Amino acid sequence: MAQVFRCPMCRMEFTTEDTLEEHKARGHVFRCPECSGEFPTQQRLEEHERRAH
Ligand SMILES: [Zn+2]
Ligand SMILES: [Zn+2]
Repeated sequence: MAQVFRCPMCRMEFTTEDTLEEHKARGHVFRCPECSGEFPTQQRLEEHERRAH
């Protein structure tokens, strides 16, 4: 049974709960592929992409 732990914020998948927790503890950075700007949430990144590009 291959269980997958999915981060609710960025939808990244992890094979163990530990790695998911570590990922969440580190915090989320969403990076704009166009200007390398960093944003704390997917939504902020999408807003930025609409406004800035
Ligand atoms: Zn995440
Ligand atoms: Zn950008």
